[in-house]
Amino acid sequence: AEARALYAKARPASAEAHQAAQAVMPGGSTRSVLFWTPFPISMARGEGARLWDADGLEYRDFLGEYTAGLFGHSEGSILAAAQAAMARGINLAAAGRDEAAFAGLVCARFPAIERVRFTNSGTEANIMALATARAFTGRTDMMVARGAYHGGVLTFAKERSPVNLPVPTRFMDYNDPEGAAAAIRAAGDALAAVLVEPMLGSGGCIPASREFLAALREACAETGAVLIFDEVMTSRHGPGGMQGRHGITPDMTTLGKYIAGGFNVGAFGGRADIMDVFNGHRANALPHAGTFNNNVWSMAAGRVALGEIFTGEAAEALFARGETLRARLNAACAEAGLPMQFTGAGSMMTVHFRAGAITAPYTATPEEEQRRELFFLDMLAAGIYVARRGMISLSLPLSDADLDALVEAVREFLAARG
Ligand code: PLP
Repeated sequence: AEARALYAKARPASAEAHQAAQAVMPGGSTRSVLFWTPFPISMARGEGARLWDADGLEYRDFLGEYTAGLFGHSEGSILAAAQAAMARGINLAAAGRDEAAFAGLVCARFPAIERVRFTNSGTEANIMALATARAFTGRTDMMVARGAYHGGVLTFAKERSPVNLPVPTRFMDYNDPEGAAAAIRAAGDALAAVLVEPMLGSGGCIPASREFLAALREACAETGAVLIFDEVMTSRHGPGGMQGRHGITPDMTTLGKYIAGGFNVGAFGGRADIMDVFNGHRANALPHAGTFNNNVWSMAAGRVALGEIFTGEAAEALFARGETLRARLNAACAEAGLPMQFTGAGSMMTVHFRAGAITAPYTATPEEEQRRELFFLDMLAAGIYVARRGMISLSLPLSDADLDALVEAVREFLAARG
């Protein structure tokens, strides 16, 4: 309560902005993830890896827009590419010069993506991937992991989903290879698709074991269900994403977040024979329209983002940087001897307040919840912006001094709250 009061006292402008916003939006924002009590921070400006809130307080940005902010705020060449595209004309209702070039970069980067299509969000990419699998197989059901997050209407972390999905949904437990394989086999001919994150992102940065993904691969190959890797967050984890790291090839892959340099985007793709259901030259092709699917700013920005900045080498380097940082944070936790750890892979991690290996999502105890909130508040007080749920995602412009500052803040948290 004390930490919350300090938070509120330091941010009258954010409080006021929230008050005003509540009059026109339930909860005061369009993104549930940003909400918390007493009020969320209202950000005024960002530059590189820095943020300034409505009260003029400055933060090192360790949230990186939930992984979409990989390039930092308004990176020069991305901004220039988007601006140049917009200057050539917004909304041309036609195929554009950057669309195929961007698609080419995506296909070159992820060999399992032989053909790709763009959307405006990761949510849409997953919905369309599921639709693709249903059309291709002529089957109905999908299987997802308990605790997974595949988008606003595809959230399986809570009992309550915002919509009744029209797709019959079956569940598996994350990182349970035998159980999942058995469930896939039992579903047999009913199962069109298995949709899985190679690392649970929102679910706590919990990586899948190679065995789990391999078991899904094998069972899907056996039954004919389409295996879809949701790499919306994890595709940053190496030149070929998490699938490249594990050497496991899904039938389809979904992407999003950072791939268009921070602009709105999603993508779904995979085997050419599967994606051919959209081939307009075919009778009965599956439709996939969408006014903004190939919007010129995202296509142009994506070309620069993937082609020039976040190359395969850059992805490998960022992964290594994140691994080193997480090791440093975990060493600090171990030294303090407290039940606190950072799970994750590469440049994405989440703090947990329990000891022992964490391989599946869990319901936090009230004590764990309280520590998580304290962590969030203490980081803010130290000028470090992380997700309320304790997630960190690194962006390219973060400096070594920024990383040192995070480690120092975590050490102070351990000393003060241990
Ligand atoms: N899939 C995963 C794994 C995600 O983490 C997210 C977003 O957090 C999505 C899909 C949905 O993407 P979007 O928010 O662009 O709809």
